[in-house]
Amino acid sequence: MTQALEDFLRRLDREIRAAGDWGEVADYIPELARIDPAQFGIAVALPGGGVLTAGQAGQRFSIQSVSKVFSLACVLGRIGEQIWTRVGREPSGRRFDSILLLEQEQGRPHNPFINAGALVTTDELVTGRAPKEALAEILGFLRAAAEDDDIHIDKAVARSETETGYRNVALANYLKSFGNLKNAPEITLGTYFHQCAIEMSCVQLARAGRVIAGLPGTPQMLTPLKARRISALMMMCGHYDGSGDFAFRVGLPGKSGVGGGILLIAPGRASIAIWSPGLNGYGNSRMGSYAAERLARETGWSVFA
Ligand code: GLU
Repeated sequence: MTQALEDFLRRLDREIRAAGDWGEVADYIPELARIDPAQFGIAVALPGGGVLTAGQAGQRFSIQSVSKVFSLACVLGRIGEQIWTRVGREPSGRRFDSILLLEQEQGRPHNPFINAGALVTTDELVTGRAPKEALAEILGFLRAAAEDDDIHIDKAVARSETETGYRNVALANYLKSFGNLKNAPEITLGTYFHQCAIEMSCVQLARAGRVIAGLPGTPQMLTPLKARRISALMMMCGHYDGSGDFAFRVGLPGKSGVGGGILLIAPGRASIAIWSPGLNGYGNSRMGSYAAERLARETGWSVFA
């Protein structure tokens, strides 16, 4: 299996580069707009500690919304079920930064993976302490899960989004007006922008995802129930208004980010990280989604098996 999977990953890498059908990089964050879309990497972490790779699996990229999975894990550790009074668990069917939706939902965001919902979970993490302590908790979780201390925030990306993230500023202010933001909007926003600016390689991200996939021989950082629940949310809400299509095509929980990363979970079998910065119309990695679909077919991995 391992050799066959390694051969497949190499073939997939060659095929994707030959096709050259990359999509467009996110241009609303200037620092991300400068990135060459013609890049691809994949890492598959397996039970027992092995990681198979192809392409630019060691290249660091901005994990952006993939960070929301780990901030949620931290919040569940801190306050548990109480978070669900402030944010829901339903797919949104709308853009990741929809303001219209927040009006309709009366300030209680549909789920923790759309921007408004992630602002609420980050707000919870920063309550009662300084932003740098909240960020240290998220970084600490990622480093412990990946068993790798070399995971950091890209300050230039954080600055870039702080200077231009007007929609998120609007969402935070709107949440505040509904009484669903405990801190000053600029405190929660600053923490959120820095959390999104964490940079990791596919190898690091695949290793961090092992705690959600529940792979044997990895750090025990989440109870099986929490890992299952995070996976369920990734399945239903991890790709914004493209979540249904992703579930249909891939059949595994996944979380995307506008940096072009996808964390994919095959419970008990593998944790997979894919990166290709060109996006599709939903703001999800175009070639990353394609690679996830091909990998799921090749391996037969599915939560519906
Ligand atoms: N930092 C990005 C934003 O808030 C994250 C969005 C994403 O990765 O989908 O707009």
